[in-house]
This record gives sequence, structure tokens and C-alpha cells, in this order.
Amino acid sequence: MAISNACPMCGVEVPRGALACPQCGEKMRQGGPRSGVGPHFEPPHSGPGIASFIAALLGWAALVATFAFTAYVLQGPGGQPPPDQQMTIGAAAIAGVGLLVAGATLGLVGVLLPRRKKVYAILGLVFSLLPLLGCGGFIAVIAIAAANAHR
Ligand SMILES: [Zn+2]
Repeated sequence: MAISNACPMCGVEVPRGALACPQCGEKMRQGGPRSGVGPHFEPPHSGPGIASFIAALLGWAALVATFAFTAYVLQGPGGQPPPDQQMTIGAAAIAGVGLLVAGATLGLVGVLLPRRKKVYAILGLVFSLLPLLGCGGFIAVIAIAAANAHR
């Protein structure tokens, strides 16, 4: 039976997950002796997953800053930002979308990697894909509305 452990002190069968032997009180090592694949094996965080999470956060920050700056500029008297500010806004938006695309790609890699914690990879993937899908949906809605308006 691979489900239970034998106590290293007294040899009695100890249920997996028990912190100590119920017979002699010997502390039990979780997951058995360095098997590395038991149910209590703690896999390392995946590098791509964490990178994905960071890229997603940076992408969000860049896009939020871009929107905030755009809103601030549009409140000005001209209503139209000067060319150098338009360049900054465009570059920041492209950088934000690029970071989100990178985050989604890295998140996908992190999710697909075996024996790694997938928390950050999944978070990075979701955080990256949501705004991308949101932008895609927004553009689709505008395109559909424009197509209907031309009828
Ligand atoms: Zn024992």
C-alpha cells in the first residue's frame, strides 16, 4: 500500500498526512523520504509563472497610467493632446499591451510546465488575458455597431 507510511521509529503504519506517529509520537516527515512526488510534495514556483504574473501587473500599470494620462490630457483646453504627448500615450499603450501579451504567453508556459506551482502562472494568464479580451470585445462591439449603423 503506497497510501500509508511506516513510522521510522517503531514501524507502525501511520496515515499519510499525520504530523506524528500515533504509537510513539515520532515526528513524521511529510510526503515520505525524499520521494518528491508524494501528495505532500511542494513543487517549486515556476519561473515563467512568476514572470507572467509580474508582466501582467506591469502591463496593467502601464495601461492604467496611459488611460489616466490620456484622461488628464483630454481635460486640457485644446481637447487634443500635442503630438509629443500623443507619442508618449501611444508608446505606453503599446508597451502595456506588449507586456500583457508576454504575460499571457509566459502564463501559458507556466501552466503547461509539469510539477510546478501554477498559482502565479494562472494569475498571470488571467490578468493578462482579461484586458486583452476586454479590448478585443470592445473593438468587436464598436465594429458591429459601426457595421449596423451603415445599413
Ligand atoms: Zn512510531
